[in-house]
Amino acid sequence: MIKKQNILLEKIAEEHGTPVFVIDHEKIRENYREFREKLPDVQAYFAVKANSNPEIIKTMYYMGASFDVASFPEFMLVYDNFKHLPEKERQDFIWDKIIYANTIKPAEVLANLNIYKILVTFDNIEELKKIKKHAPDVGLVLRIRVPNTGSMVELSSKFGAHPGEAVDLIAEAINLGLGVEGISFHVGSQCNNFDNYSQALNFASSIFKEAELRNYQIGFIDKEGKRRKILDIGGGFPVKYTPDVKSFATLARQLNSEIKRLLSNDNIQVIAEPGRFMVATACTLITKIVGKAVRDGKTCYYLDDGVHHTFSGQVFDHQHYPLNSIKCGEKKVCATFGPTCDAFDTISLADELPEDLQIDDLLYAENIGAYTIASTTYFNGFPPPKVVHLNK
Ligand SMILES: *Cc1c(COP(=O)(O)O)cnc(C)c1O
Repeated sequence: MIKKQNILLEKIAEEHGTPVFVIDHEKIRENYREFREKLPDVQAYFAVKANSNPEIIKTMYYMGASFDVASFPEFMLVYDNFKHLPEKERQDFIWDKIIYANTIKPAEVLANLNIYKILVTFDNIEELKKIKKHAPDVGLVLRIRVPNTGSMVELSSKFGAHPGEAVDLIAEAINLGLGVEGISFHVGSQCNNFDNYSQALNFASSIFKEAELRNYQIGFIDKEGKRRKILDIGGGFPVKYTPDVKSFATLARQLNSEIKRLLSNDNIQVIAEPGRFMVATACTLITKIVGKAVRDGKTCYYLDDGVHHTFSGQVFDHQHYPLNSIKCGEKKVCATFGPTCDAFDTISLADELPEDLQIDDLLYAENIGAYTIASTTYFNGFPPPKVVHLNK
Protein backbone atom coordinates (compact mmCIF):
# COMPACT_ATOMS: atom_id res chain seq x y z
CA MET A 1 0.00 0.00 0.00
CA ILE A 2 1.36 3.41 -0.89
CA LYS A 3 0.75 5.88 1.87
CA LYS A 4 -0.86 9.21 1.05
CA GLN A 5 2.03 10.95 2.76
CA ASN A 6 4.53 9.25 0.46
CA ILE A 7 2.73 10.58 -2.60
CA LEU A 8 2.96 14.07 -1.17
CA LEU A 9 6.69 13.66 -0.43
CA GLU A 10 7.34 12.38 -3.96
CA LYS A 11 5.51 15.32 -5.41
CA ILE A 12 7.53 17.78 -3.31
CA ALA A 13 10.81 16.12 -4.33
CA GLU A 14 9.82 16.20 -7.97
CA GLU A 15 8.86 19.85 -7.85
CA HIS A 16 11.74 21.16 -5.75
CA GLY A 17 14.57 18.66 -6.15
CA THR A 18 16.45 17.10 -3.25
CA PRO A 19 17.57 17.33 -0.54
CA VAL A 20 14.47 19.13 0.62
CA PHE A 21 13.46 20.02 4.16
CA VAL A 22 9.69 20.15 4.61
CA ILE A 23 8.17 22.25 7.39
CA ASP A 24 4.52 21.62 8.27
CA HIS A 25 3.27 24.78 9.94
CA GLU A 26 0.00 23.19 11.02
CA LYS A 27 2.01 20.73 13.12
CA ILE A 28 3.91 23.64 14.71
CA ARG A 29 0.61 25.29 15.61
CA GLU A 30 -0.62 21.97 17.03
CA ASN A 31 2.50 21.63 19.19
CA TYR A 32 2.15 25.18 20.45
CA ARG A 33 -1.53 24.64 21.29
CA GLU A 34 -0.72 21.40 23.10
CA PHE A 35 1.93 23.12 25.20
CA ARG A 36 -0.43 25.96 26.13
CA GLU A 37 -3.31 23.60 26.89
CA LYS A 38 -1.32 21.29 29.14
CA LEU A 39 0.59 24.09 30.89
CA PRO A 40 -2.03 26.84 30.95
CA ASP A 41 -0.22 29.02 33.50
CA VAL A 42 3.13 28.90 31.77
CA GLN A 43 4.04 31.46 29.14
CA ALA A 44 5.84 29.74 26.22
CA TYR A 45 9.01 31.43 24.95
CA PHE A 46 9.98 29.54 21.78
CA ALA A 47 13.74 28.86 21.88
CA VAL A 48 14.72 30.13 18.44
CA LYS A 49 17.98 28.18 18.26
CA ALA A 50 16.12 24.87 17.81
CA ASN A 51 15.08 26.01 14.35
CA SER A 52 15.48 29.66 13.39
CA ASN A 53 13.71 29.51 10.04
CA PRO A 54 12.06 32.96 9.71
CA GLU A 55 8.76 31.43 8.61
CA ILE A 56 8.65 29.30 11.78
CA ILE A 57 9.25 32.41 13.85
CA LYS A 58 6.43 34.13 11.97
CA THR A 59 4.04 31.23 12.62
CA MET A 60 4.93 31.27 16.32
CA TYR A 61 4.51 35.03 16.40
CA TYR A 62 0.99 34.81 14.96
CA MET A 63 0.13 32.08 17.47
CA GLY A 64 0.96 34.55 20.22
CA ALA A 65 4.20 32.91 21.36
CA SER A 66 6.97 34.65 23.23
CA PHE A 67 10.62 34.09 22.30
CA ASP A 68 13.91 32.97 23.81
CA VAL A 69 16.83 34.35 21.79
CA ALA A 70 20.49 33.69 22.45
CA SER A 71 22.28 36.01 20.02
CA PHE A 72 21.67 39.43 18.54
CA PRO A 73 20.89 38.04 15.06
CA GLU A 74 18.24 35.79 16.64
CA PHE A 75 16.78 38.82 18.37
CA MET A 76 16.60 40.63 15.02
CA LEU A 77 14.83 37.64 13.42
CA VAL A 78 12.07 37.98 16.01
CA TYR A 79 12.14 41.78 15.91
CA ASP A 80 11.43 41.71 12.15
CA ASN A 81 7.91 40.49 12.92
CA PHE A 82 6.85 43.48 14.98
CA LYS A 83 9.23 46.27 14.00
CA HIS A 84 6.37 48.02 12.17
CA LEU A 85 4.43 48.48 15.45
CA PRO A 86 4.35 51.88 17.18
CA GLU A 87 7.28 52.49 19.54
CA LYS A 88 5.30 51.80 22.72
CA GLU A 89 3.86 48.47 21.54
CA ARG A 90 7.23 47.46 20.19
CA GLN A 91 8.86 48.08 23.53
CA ASP A 92 6.03 46.28 25.35
CA PHE A 93 6.51 43.24 23.11
CA ILE A 94 10.24 43.16 23.83
CA TRP A 95 9.68 43.47 27.54
CA ASP A 96 6.73 41.03 27.85
CA LYS A 97 7.66 38.49 25.23
CA ILE A 98 11.41 38.20 24.67
CA ILE A 99 14.16 36.86 26.88
CA TYR A 100 17.82 36.90 25.89
CA ALA A 101 18.71 33.58 27.48
CA ASN A 102 22.45 33.41 26.91
CA THR A 103 24.26 34.08 30.17
CA ILE A 104 27.41 35.16 28.32
CA LYS A 105 27.13 38.29 26.21
CA PRO A 106 29.94 40.21 24.49
CA ALA A 107 30.17 43.91 25.42
CA GLU A 108 29.02 45.07 21.96
CA VAL A 109 25.93 42.87 22.20
CA LEU A 110 25.13 44.23 25.66
CA ALA A 111 25.35 47.77 24.33
CA ASN A 112 22.81 46.85 21.62
CA LEU A 113 20.53 45.04 24.07
CA ASN A 114 20.53 48.05 26.37
CA ILE A 115 18.75 50.08 23.69
CA TYR A 116 15.89 47.56 23.79
CA LYS A 117 15.77 47.20 27.61
CA ILE A 118 15.37 43.49 27.19
CA LEU A 119 15.33 40.75 29.83
CA VAL A 120 18.64 38.84 29.95
CA THR A 121 20.00 35.94 31.97
CA PHE A 122 23.29 35.94 33.89
CA ASP A 123 25.10 33.47 36.14
CA ASN A 124 28.38 35.03 37.26
CA ILE A 125 29.95 38.14 38.71
CA GLU A 126 32.09 39.06 35.68
CA GLU A 127 28.94 39.17 33.58
CA LEU A 128 27.28 41.44 36.14
CA LYS A 129 30.19 43.90 35.88
CA LYS A 130 29.89 43.88 32.08
CA ILE A 131 26.13 44.43 32.31
CA LYS A 132 26.60 47.30 34.77
CA LYS A 133 29.01 48.95 32.35
CA HIS A 134 27.32 48.31 28.99
CA ALA A 135 23.66 47.55 29.67
CA PRO A 136 22.47 49.03 32.97
CA ASP A 137 18.85 49.28 31.73
CA VAL A 138 18.23 45.59 30.97
CA GLY A 139 16.27 43.33 33.32
CA LEU A 140 18.10 40.41 34.90
CA VAL A 141 17.19 36.79 35.50
CA LEU A 142 19.63 34.65 37.45
CA ARG A 143 20.26 31.26 35.87
CA ILE A 144 21.01 28.56 38.40
CA ARG A 145 22.72 25.25 37.90
CA VAL A 146 20.39 22.28 38.30
CA PRO A 147 20.72 18.50 37.81
CA ASN A 148 20.75 17.43 34.15
CA THR A 149 20.79 13.69 34.85
CA GLY A 150 19.08 11.67 32.15
CA SER A 151 18.80 14.51 29.66
CA MET A 152 20.05 13.84 26.14
CA VAL A 153 21.96 17.10 25.97
CA GLU A 154 23.65 18.10 29.22
CA LEU A 155 24.19 21.81 29.91
CA SER A 156 24.98 22.04 33.61
CA SER A 157 28.75 22.14 33.17
CA LYS A 158 28.57 25.19 30.94
CA PHE A 159 25.86 27.35 32.51
CA GLY A 160 24.28 28.21 35.81
CA ALA A 161 25.31 29.64 39.18
CA HIS A 162 25.60 27.14 42.00
CA PRO A 163 22.37 27.39 44.04
CA GLY A 164 24.46 28.01 47.16
CA GLU A 165 25.86 31.19 45.59
CA ALA A 166 22.60 32.35 44.09
CA VAL A 167 21.48 34.81 46.75
CA ASP A 168 24.97 36.33 46.98
CA LEU A 169 24.88 36.95 43.23
CA ILE A 170 21.44 38.51 43.52
CA ALA A 171 22.80 40.72 46.31
CA GLU A 172 25.78 41.64 44.15
CA ALA A 173 23.46 42.68 41.30
CA ILE A 174 21.24 44.75 43.55
CA ASN A 175 24.26 46.43 45.13
CA LEU A 176 25.40 47.38 41.63
CA GLY A 177 22.04 49.09 41.16
CA LEU A 178 20.71 46.48 38.74
CA GLY A 179 17.21 44.97 38.87
CA VAL A 180 16.81 41.21 39.32
CA GLU A 181 13.45 40.00 38.01
CA GLY A 182 13.67 36.31 38.72
CA ILE A 183 15.35 32.94 38.42
CA SER A 184 15.83 30.56 35.51
CA PHE A 185 17.14 27.06 34.96
CA HIS A 186 17.50 24.50 32.20
CA VAL A 187 17.30 20.80 33.04
CA GLY A 188 19.10 19.78 29.82
CA SER A 189 17.54 19.11 26.45
CA GLN A 190 15.28 16.13 25.69
CA CYS A 191 14.84 15.48 29.41
CA ASN A 192 13.47 12.05 30.17
CA ASN A 193 14.05 12.28 33.93
CA PHE A 194 11.34 14.49 35.33
CA ASP A 195 12.98 14.59 38.78
CA ASN A 196 15.30 17.20 37.28
CA TYR A 197 12.40 19.62 37.10
CA SER A 198 11.28 18.85 40.68
CA GLN A 199 14.73 19.40 42.10
CA ALA A 200 15.17 22.59 40.09
CA LEU A 201 11.81 23.94 41.30
CA ASN A 202 12.83 23.18 44.88
CA PHE A 203 16.10 25.09 44.43
CA ALA A 204 14.31 28.05 42.89
CA SER A 205 11.73 28.14 45.64
CA SER A 206 14.39 28.10 48.40
CA ILE A 207 16.37 30.84 46.68
CA PHE A 208 13.27 33.05 46.48
CA LYS A 209 12.70 32.42 50.20
CA GLU A 210 16.28 33.06 51.24
CA ALA A 211 16.42 36.27 49.21
CA GLU A 212 13.29 37.45 50.95
CA LEU A 213 14.72 36.59 54.39
CA ARG A 214 17.80 38.61 53.57
CA ASN A 215 15.63 41.47 52.29
CA TYR A 216 16.69 41.41 48.67
CA GLN A 217 13.75 42.38 46.52
CA ILE A 218 13.35 40.33 43.38
CA GLY A 219 10.77 41.07 40.74
CA PHE A 220 9.19 43.75 38.64
CA ILE A 221 6.08 45.87 39.00
CA ASP A 222 3.38 44.54 36.67
CA LYS A 223 0.63 46.46 34.91
CA GLU A 224 -1.62 46.24 37.96
CA GLY A 225 1.11 47.74 40.11
CA LYS A 226 1.91 44.45 41.85
CA ARG A 227 5.41 43.11 42.34
CA ARG A 228 5.92 39.89 40.40
CA LYS A 229 8.84 37.52 40.15
CA ILE A 230 9.77 35.53 37.07
CA LEU A 231 10.38 31.83 37.31
CA ASP A 232 11.80 30.57 34.03
CA ILE A 233 11.68 26.77 33.89
CA GLY A 234 13.72 26.62 30.67
CA GLY A 235 13.48 23.96 27.97
CA GLY A 236 13.98 20.22 27.94
CA PHE A 237 10.39 19.17 27.16
CA PRO A 238 10.86 15.79 25.53
CA VAL A 239 9.75 14.68 22.09
CA LYS A 240 8.61 11.09 21.59
CA TYR A 241 11.28 10.12 19.04
CA THR A 242 11.09 6.56 20.39
CA PRO A 243 8.44 4.76 22.48
CA ASP A 244 10.58 4.81 25.66
CA VAL A 245 10.36 8.60 25.95
CA LYS A 246 7.93 9.59 28.69
CA SER A 247 4.95 11.63 27.68
CA PHE A 248 4.76 15.39 27.84
CA ALA A 249 1.30 15.06 29.39
CA THR A 250 2.82 13.31 32.42
CA LEU A 251 5.47 16.01 32.78
CA ALA A 252 2.88 18.75 32.45
CA ARG A 253 0.71 17.26 35.21
CA GLN A 254 3.75 17.00 37.49
CA LEU A 255 4.85 20.57 36.73
CA ASN A 256 1.38 22.02 37.29
CA SER A 257 1.04 20.43 40.70
CA GLU A 258 4.58 21.23 41.86
CA ILE A 259 4.45 24.82 40.73
CA LYS A 260 1.23 25.16 42.66
CA ARG A 261 2.63 23.50 45.77
CA LEU A 262 5.93 25.35 45.89
CA LEU A 263 5.18 28.73 44.57
CA SER A 264 1.52 29.57 44.92
CA ASN A 265 2.04 32.02 47.77
CA ASP A 266 4.41 34.17 45.81
CA ASN A 267 3.23 36.35 43.02
CA ILE A 268 5.13 34.55 40.31
CA GLN A 269 4.98 34.61 36.54
CA VAL A 270 6.10 31.19 35.28
CA ILE A 271 7.66 31.09 31.85
CA ALA A 272 9.28 28.27 29.84
CA GLU A 273 11.59 28.08 26.85
CA PRO A 274 10.48 25.11 24.74
CA GLY A 275 12.58 24.66 21.59
CA ARG A 276 12.57 21.07 20.41
CA PHE A 277 8.98 20.47 21.52
CA MET A 278 7.62 23.02 19.03
CA VAL A 279 9.54 22.05 15.91
CA ALA A 280 10.96 18.51 16.00
CA THR A 281 7.84 16.68 14.84
CA ALA A 282 6.91 19.34 12.30
CA CYS A 283 9.71 18.65 9.83
CA THR A 284 10.64 15.91 7.38
CA LEU A 285 13.75 15.63 5.26
CA ILE A 286 13.57 14.08 1.79
CA THR A 287 16.86 12.90 0.37
CA LYS A 288 17.81 10.98 -2.76
CA ILE A 289 20.11 8.05 -3.31
CA VAL A 290 22.98 9.32 -5.47
CA GLY A 291 25.26 6.28 -5.26
CA LYS A 292 25.17 2.61 -4.31
CA ALA A 293 27.86 0.05 -3.54
CA VAL A 294 28.16 -3.26 -1.77
CA ARG A 295 31.04 -3.32 0.71
CA ASP A 296 31.83 -6.38 2.83
CA GLY A 297 28.48 -7.81 1.82
CA LYS A 298 26.55 -4.79 3.06
CA THR A 299 24.54 -2.52 0.81
CA CYS A 300 25.76 1.07 1.09
CA TYR A 301 23.62 3.96 -0.04
CA TYR A 302 25.14 7.40 -0.69
CA LEU A 303 22.64 10.22 -0.17
CA ASP A 304 22.51 13.89 -1.09
CA ASP A 305 22.18 14.97 2.57
CA GLY A 306 24.37 13.93 5.47
CA VAL A 307 26.06 14.61 8.78
CA HIS A 308 27.44 18.01 7.76
CA HIS A 309 23.92 19.04 6.80
CA THR A 310 20.48 18.09 8.13
CA PHE A 311 21.84 15.01 9.89
CA SER A 312 24.15 17.27 11.94
CA GLY A 313 21.64 16.65 14.72
CA GLN A 314 23.31 13.26 15.12
CA VAL A 315 26.43 15.06 16.30
CA PHE A 316 25.11 18.14 18.07
CA ASP A 317 21.86 16.73 19.40
CA HIS A 318 22.79 13.05 19.90
CA GLN A 319 19.69 11.96 18.00
CA HIS A 320 19.23 9.32 15.35
CA TYR A 321 16.78 9.94 12.53
CA PRO A 322 15.82 6.58 10.99
CA LEU A 323 15.52 6.65 7.22
CA ASN A 324 12.42 5.34 5.50
CA SER A 325 12.12 4.38 1.89
CA ILE A 326 9.29 5.53 -0.31
CA LYS A 327 9.59 2.31 -2.31
CA CYS A 328 8.65 -0.88 -0.48
CA GLY A 329 10.81 -3.99 -0.33
CA GLU A 330 12.19 -6.54 2.07
CA LYS A 331 14.33 -4.74 4.62
CA LYS A 332 17.96 -5.51 5.38
CA VAL A 333 20.59 -3.74 7.43
CA CYS A 334 22.19 -1.18 5.13
CA ALA A 335 24.71 1.62 5.54
CA THR A 336 23.82 5.21 4.68
CA PHE A 337 26.40 7.89 3.93
CA GLY A 338 26.24 11.62 3.22
CA PRO A 339 27.55 13.20 0.02
CA THR A 340 30.87 14.66 1.24
CA CYS A 341 34.34 13.11 1.05
CA ASP A 342 34.57 12.88 4.83
CA ALA A 343 34.32 9.42 6.41
CA PHE A 344 32.69 11.09 9.39
CA ASP A 345 29.78 11.79 7.04
CA THR A 346 28.24 8.43 7.92
CA ILE A 347 24.56 8.62 8.73
CA SER A 348 24.17 5.03 9.88
CA LEU A 349 25.88 1.67 9.56
CA ALA A 350 22.61 -0.05 10.45
CA ASP A 351 19.57 1.53 8.83
CA GLU A 352 16.81 -0.95 8.01
CA LEU A 353 16.10 -0.36 4.33
CA PRO A 354 15.16 -2.36 1.25
CA GLU A 355 18.42 -3.51 -0.35
CA ASP A 356 17.21 -3.30 -3.93
CA LEU A 357 16.77 0.47 -3.99
CA GLN A 358 18.26 2.22 -6.97
CA ILE A 359 20.00 5.50 -7.69
CA ASP A 360 17.44 8.36 -7.71
CA ASP A 361 15.13 6.54 -5.28
CA LEU A 362 13.90 8.69 -2.41
CA LEU A 363 14.34 8.26 1.32
CA TYR A 364 12.91 10.40 4.08
CA ALA A 365 13.47 11.03 7.79
CA GLU A 366 10.73 12.31 10.07
CA ASN A 367 10.82 14.27 13.35
CA ILE A 368 13.94 16.05 12.13
CA GLY A 369 12.96 19.65 12.89
CA ALA A 370 15.04 20.46 15.98
CA TYR A 371 18.80 21.15 16.07
CA THR A 372 19.28 19.83 12.54
CA ILE A 373 18.96 22.32 9.70
CA ALA A 374 19.96 24.95 12.28
CA SER A 375 23.52 23.62 12.16
CA THR A 376 24.04 22.72 8.49
CA THR A 377 27.22 23.83 6.77
CA TYR A 378 28.48 24.32 3.21
CA PHE A 379 31.24 21.80 3.83
CA ASN A 380 32.83 20.35 0.71
CA GLY A 381 30.68 22.65 -1.44
CA PHE A 382 27.40 20.97 -0.59
CA PRO A 383 24.77 23.56 0.39
CA PRO A 384 22.02 23.09 3.00
CA PRO A 385 18.76 21.57 1.72
CA LYS A 386 16.06 23.66 0.13
CA VAL A 387 13.19 24.44 2.51
CA VAL A 388 9.54 23.92 1.56
CA HIS A 389 6.62 25.09 3.70
CA LEU A 390 3.28 23.28 4.07
CA ASN A 391 0.11 24.83 5.54
CA LYS A 392 1.80 28.20 6.06
C1 LIG B 1 18.48 25.44 23.95
C2 LIG B 1 17.80 26.13 25.06
C3 LIG B 1 16.42 25.96 25.25
C4 LIG B 1 15.57 25.02 24.43
O1 LIG B 1 15.73 23.73 24.90
P1 LIG B 1 14.81 22.52 24.37
O2 LIG B 1 15.37 21.36 25.08
O3 LIG B 1 14.96 22.46 22.89
O4 LIG B 1 13.41 22.81 24.76
C5 LIG B 1 15.82 26.67 26.26
N1 LIG B 1 16.53 27.51 27.06
C6 LIG B 1 17.86 27.68 26.90
C7 LIG B 1 18.57 28.62 27.81
C8 LIG B 1 18.54 26.99 25.92
O5 LIG B 1 19.85 27.14 25.80
